[in-house]
Amino acid sequence: MIIGSHVSFSKEELLGSAKEAVEYGANTFMIYTGAPQNTIRKEISSDLTRKAHEYMKNNGIDIQNVIAHAPYIVNLANKENLDKWHFGIDFITNECHRCETLGIKYLVLHPGSAVNHTKEEALNNIKEALKIILEDNSKTTILLETMALKGTEVGSLEDLKFLLDLNSERLGVCLDTCHLNDAGYNLSNYDELISIIKETIGLERVHCIHLNDSKNTCGSHKDRHENLGYGTIGYDNILKIATKEEFKSIPKILETPYIINTKTQKKEYPPYKFEIEGLKNKEFVENLASKVSDYFNK
Ligand code: FE
Ligand code: FE
Ligand code: ZN
Repeated sequence: MIIGSHVSFSKEELLGSAKEAVEYGANTFMIYTGAPQNTIRKEISSDLTRKAHEYMKNNGIDIQNVIAHAPYIVNLANKENLDKWHFGIDFITNECHRCETLGIKYLVLHPGSAVNHTKEEALNNIKEALKIILEDNSKTTILLETMALKGTEVGSLEDLKFLLDLNSERLGVCLDTCHLNDAGYNLSNYDELISIIKETIGLERVHCIHLNDSKNTCGSHKDRHENLGYGTIGYDNILKIATKEEFKSIPKILETPYIINTKTQKKEYPPYKFEIEGLKNKEFVENLASKVSDYFNK
């Protein structure tokens, strides 16, 4: 299983990220190359990148499976403010180059929200933006993420199918199990899910899976992640996606919520070490919160 989680990129850049992933027993990871909520980006250190690659090699992490995620404030669907839309295009173009500098092959991108546009306009705006981005000479593959369809979000499998007909080698899909559930896809029927994927985007386009349970019911359009087995999707349904043949060679990334430190009442403790161990053993982690807080409190 190629399994990891979202990790930080702030300490020692990629080297720090890789070290954090190894602490969790992961063999891959996902980063934002700067703060997820803004577009401020500092220059990448070639020295730390080189050290990170060496560290990964020695610790069983194949850089080919490492994922970057674009900041979620970029909205290529909204053309109301043209300067902003062009800024988004330039930013993602640069982000592709930052990925190349880091040796990362995949960049996950939220397709966007229609805001005051119709859904059709929104999809056309995204397609137009992607077309410009893909004209650039970068080799980074952009993975469009399936979205929960919260508010005016686009990003159903059908929406992604429309965007994928740009027919670029550099375009793929990242499935997010929480988002699929919240968007209305029933994850308790694995075979049906596979056939919907085949009919829409095609299995070969899937290059990353965000493994999350959901706090809300199927079709709720909410987008609130839950720890594996503690939400409405349930452990067995998530385990199938994590272990079945169709997705065997695809990196799986956890974006599940941190655990509350009962002393400070803040979500401070990453659950990933325990959730990854559970997945490897194909076993639901009972009493996750107390296991995690005991581990960090000792
Ligand atoms: Fe995402
Ligand atoms: Fe996600
Ligand atoms: Zn989400």
